Amino acid sequence: MRPLVATIDLSAIRHNYALAKRCAPGRQAFAVVKANAYGHGVREVVDALRDEADGFAVACLEEAAEVRSVHADARILLLEGCFEPAEYLLAAQLRLDVAVQGEEQACALLAANLPAPLNVWLKLDSGMHRLGFAPAALRAWHGRLRGAAQVAELNLMSHFACADLRGDAQNEDQLESFLGLLDLDFDQRSLANSAAILTIPAAHMDWLRPGIMLYGATPFADLSAAELGLRPAMSLQAQLIAVHEVAAGESVGYGASWVAGRPSRIGTVSCGYADGYPRHASAGTPVLVNGQRVALAGRVSMDMLTVDLTELPAAKVGDPVELWGENLPIDEVAAHAGTIGYELLTKVTARVPRCYRG
Ligand SMILES: *Cc1c(COP(=O)(O)O)cnc(C)c1O
Repeated sequence: MRPLVATIDLSAIRHNYALAKRCAPGRQAFAVVKANAYGHGVREVVDALRDEADGFAVACLEEAAEVRSVHADARILLLEGCFEPAEYLLAAQLRLDVAVQGEEQACALLAANLPAPLNVWLKLDSGMHRLGFAPAALRAWHGRLRGAAQVAELNLMSHFACADLRGDAQNEDQLESFLGLLDLDFDQRSLANSAAILTIPAAHMDWLRPGIMLYGATPFADLSAAELGLRPAMSLQAQLIAVHEVAAGESVGYGASWVAGRPSRIGTVSCGYADGYPRHASAGTPVLVNGQRVALAGRVSMDMLTVDLTELPAAKVGDPVELWGENLPIDEVAAHAGTIGYELLTKVTARVPRCYRG
């Protein structure tokens, strides 16, 4: 078997969910499990949080159906609502909560003939300008949906554009926009993603929406997961499959872009960009070999990457390699690749077997 596995520690996910809840005592939380639970496996994650989670949130009906198939009673929120009118019937059959983020969705909801009313989350565009109603339109739709036959709970939600930037003025503006609608009678309110859960208590409202923090990565550029008390859930583990001595002046890998400045020992690792390791990770990106940090050397290839083992003369074929995880924060790797932990986690590809513990 190819020595590459993503080990998922489900107890870390339970720990991180509990941490989110401790940030906001008395509030409830939708565990965000869209995009295959940020690459961790939606079935396993939902099952691991079965007794703890107050609900789950997903991006589309297909994802919701998968959550429903593992958890018959869970509250499940469709974060972007229905993409076509026919989906409302399926949403009602699956007993989903739906976001309503625009006029087309609201009209389709009012035209739907449903076997049971839905919990509706009216989405306010509080400043991100991606989804949602402007405040005045939201007031009007509140009036039209309150008491409609298709609507059970009528709730309010919005989303921050800059919650990961602590102290950013836009957070204050968006919070104020949200608070400005609370004279309307909503059953439930929800505003906070991970970053806001961790740093904007005034945004906690009734329902939290933790995503990235559940998986033990940080939403912040300047605050590490460890500093936040988060435990990484995924460790991407490979092995050295070859070791080569390379003379000074010789190059390594595609494009011959990395040239040995000294006689070097180069290790080849069983992980590449077709597994989800970022091709744009720069030379010098940290990789753990036998628990010791070494530097990525040369371009990442499809199935392999190469590291500089010169400082680890004892390293040999078969030795364990961690690309990120328990002992190497994914956020550090992401920074070297010009991206964020979210992208690396969601891009671990299907050919990487997931192995669960905890
Ligand atoms: C994905 C998503 C979240 C979770 O965000 P994190 O930054 O991962 O915590 C919350 N709310 C909405 C609307 C989302 O789309």
